[in-house]
Amino acid sequence: MKHLSTVQISALRGQLQAREQQLSAEIACVLERQQAKVQEGRAVDRGVLDLETSLGFAEISRDQHELDAVHAALGRIDRGTYGRCLNCGAHIPLPRLVVQPEASLCHVCQSRAESGRQAGFSAP
Ligand SMILES: [Zn+2]
Repeated sequence: MKHLSTVQISALRGQLQAREQQLSAEIACVLERQQAKVQEGRAVDRGVLDLETSLGFAEISRDQHELDAVHAALGRIDRGTYGRCLNCGAHIPLPRLVVQPEASLCHVCQSRAESGRQAGFSAP
C-alpha cells in the first residue's frame, strides 16, 4: 500500500472503526426493537408482526454484510494489503477509499462484478 501514506491509512482506519461502531449499534438497536415487538406481539396482528420482523432481518443482514466488509478492510490494513484490488491487484485510488473505505475492488473490477451479477440475474 505504498500509494497511501501512514497518515492516510490511519485516517481511513479511524473511518472504518467509526463505521464498525455505528453498524454494531444499529444491529443491536434493531435486535432490541425486534425483541420488544415479540414481547408485546400477542396483542398485535400476527401478519403485521411477521412483516416487521422480516423487514428487521433484512436491515440486520444488510448491516451485517457491511460490517463484514469493514472487518475485512481492517484486517487488510493489519496485513498491509489494504488499498489494493483483491481481484487484479491494482491500487484503489484514495478518493474511492475516502468515499468507501471498505472497498476491496478497483473501479474496473467493481463495475465488472456488478454487470456480471446483473447478467447472471437476468439469465434464464
Ligand atoms: Zn481490479
